[in-house]
Amino acid sequence: MNQHQVISPSHEAAAAVDEVLRGDFGLVGPIPLHAPKFDAADKELVNACLDEGWVSTAGHFVDEFEALIARACDVKHAIATTNGTSALHAALHCIGVTKDDAVLCPALTFIATANAISYTGAAPIFLDSSISDLGIDLKKLSHFLETECSHQNAQARHKKSGRAIKAIVPVHVFGHACDLHALTDICRNWNIAIIEDAAEALGSSFDGRPCGGFGTAATLSFNGNKPVTTGGGGAIVTNDESLAKRLKHVTTTAKLPHAWRYDHDEIGFNYRLPSLNAALGIAQMRKLGAIIESKRKIAKAYENRLSQLADVLWVSEPARCRSNYWLNAIILPNAEQRDMFLELTNSRDIQTRPCWTLIPNTAAYRDAIQAPDLTHARMLESRLVNLPSSPWMLPSQTGQ
Ligand SMILES: *Cc1c(COP(=O)(O)O)cnc(C)c1O
Repeated sequence: MNQHQVISPSHEAAAAVDEVLRGDFGLVGPIPLHAPKFDAADKELVNACLDEGWVSTAGHFVDEFEALIARACDVKHAIATTNGTSALHAALHCIGVTKDDAVLCPALTFIATANAISYTGAAPIFLDSSISDLGIDLKKLSHFLETECSHQNAQARHKKSGRAIKAIVPVHVFGHACDLHALTDICRNWNIAIIEDAAEALGSSFDGRPCGGFGTAATLSFNGNKPVTTGGGGAIVTNDESLAKRLKHVTTTAKLPHAWRYDHDEIGFNYRLPSLNAALGIAQMRKLGAIIESKRKIAKAYENRLSQLADVLWVSEPARCRSNYWLNAIILPNAEQRDMFLELTNSRDIQTRPCWTLIPNTAAYRDAIQAPDLTHARMLESRLVNLPSSPWMLPSQTGQ
């Protein structure tokens, strides 16, 4: 670039990202945003499952996968499901969320968070984001509760819609934990259950405790773009034994245990994870520690170059959180610079993408209830971009 030209923040950021990926890491060819790579151990377990012939739900692969998940989240029970969306739906259903209720969630999250709430018939209420951890802004949550809600018979109620607020679904966006202690305090006062959407936060922790162990229950995703994948898959984790039993029952079509008879005591869901996926999940979970280490090294490499730039904000793990850095992110000065950055990087075969469209801005949720002020979420929606973050990108892992 010509010395006399003013270099824009988007050009500087694109050059820095290029230096990390093509320079520091020596990557060649197209670089995906987040893609899995499978090794001999993954293939061996999938083959073992095929050899056994029991590829559907139930069996020892599912049990072992669930034990590994429970251990990683430091909780007593894990129930593996077909995906993260079904996990969240089942969790909300089983804690008693129904059609006249409301459930709080962030406006800035993947659509699955809101869809799972909608499947119960309840109305999602969309809240603003925190600039420091990208989760729900807790000051604004308190303000919303105090101004827009009432306390009736130990039940929080949204005044305008008359709906009971049964639960909140905080999201650990890009792997960064929100302040789970402060959130717990607020929710205890208002008698609102916490179901953590930890889909992006497997392996992240807050104050030394793994994400997923703070609420009534938490849900995980093992989709292909998540740090640990089973192709498609999810899980619900909880310390509540009776909730765990009910979750397992309801996600298994509410079938009453019997050797040959088919009888069901309520309308359940066919949401259990197949063995074939669980087999891959076992091999993947055994590498969780190494995956997180790699992802944190990649984040450090980006941080070294990107935090130097004057007009670019590096999204760092918040205080008291050890993040899995699922997707690395930067915030550009405005939407034009964001678009320019996306253009510059994608034209060099470096896959970057903007943040999600705010859910209340999608056609699917255009009539939904939202907090009056979504300033932070709007800012992030128009200025944040995600950077390539696959755990195998470090030089020692690409065979170069
Ligand atoms: C990935 C994800 C989910 C679940 O997605 P599935 O594709 O159903 O596994 C839910 N919430 C968030 C925030 C996610 O990123």
